Amino acid sequence: ATPTSIMVGTGRAAELGVLFRKGDALQALQGAKVVALDKTGTLTAGRPALTALSVATGHDRATALAFAAAVETKSEHPIARAILRAAEEDGLDVPEAQDFESHTGLGVTATVEGRAVLIGAERFLVQRGIDPAPLRAEADRIASEGRTPLWLAVDGAVAAAIGVDDPVKASTPAAIRAFHDLGLEVAMITGDAATTARAVADRLGIDHVVAEVMPAGKVDALHQLRADHGAIAFVGDGINDAPALAEADVGIAIGTGTDVAIEAADVVLMAGELDAVVRALAISKATIRNIR
Ligand code: ADP
Ligand code: MG
Repeated sequence: ATPTSIMVGTGRAAELGVLFRKGDALQALQGAKVVALDKTGTLTAGRPALTALSVATGHDRATALAFAAAVETKSEHPIARAILRAAEEDGLDVPEAQDFESHTGLGVTATVEGRAVLIGAERFLVQRGIDPAPLRAEADRIASEGRTPLWLAVDGAVAAAIGVDDPVKASTPAAIRAFHDLGLEVAMITGDAATTARAVADRLGIDHVVAEVMPAGKVDALHQLRADHGAIAFVGDGINDAPALAEADVGIAIGTGTDVAIEAADVVLMAGELDAVVRALAISKATIRNIR
């Protein structure tokens, strides 16, 4: 590999909005067999909106949404913004929450008007011994449509099933087709519910889905994919993607993502759209071909 052609390749990539931060990343990218992508904020825009809310018997929409918003006021998660926006649009008075706790990869809890409120993933509900049965059908429907199902529990009982929808980025479908045309396997790694992940993956023609992974589990998912298929280019944007970005054969961070992700990556995309990953792959292949 001549240093000159690597320099030309990385220079051309930079002009196209792709920063190779390490010289050997160009070579490594060319050898990737799998493109593994985080879902939220990478395949999708990462700006979810609340599009469904079903309440259990004895609960009403206004109270349920106000309680959910009270807890989410203290969360930084994109899901929190979706719930706060919905409460605002409904013109609700959001009460104060006390004893807020965030449980990474699971959800959030707090005390609102003296009542114990929980909002999060089904595994969080189950972990706390709360029965999802009353709204099981609603949550399943939400997930089968590719939306994220969230559970609201009040005083240890299910109060509402909430659906948040995070549409895929405009460039995502064409980027997935281009990865396939380049002969790569495409995988999705997400903390989201399995049914939701499967629905989104099926729509996009993604080959492999690893869902309901805790943040620490993204690295394990990478190891498994690598053992099965070969070298991995991992694309992510979040704080919880940083370990996988560092561990992948090539870590590619979305430039609109978090600083922690950008610092952990070998390659940084200047914009948020995935067509830049396609350009990076094309340049790596062209550069290494010229060298040989
Ligand atoms: P991802 O970004 O891939 O969705 P996370 O680990 O951030 O993964 O979250 C995993 C799941 O945990 C979410 O899909 C959601 O069900 C739940 N969760 C996390 N944070 C919150 C929150 N602030 N409010 C409600 N649910 C949450
Ligand atoms: Mg993300």
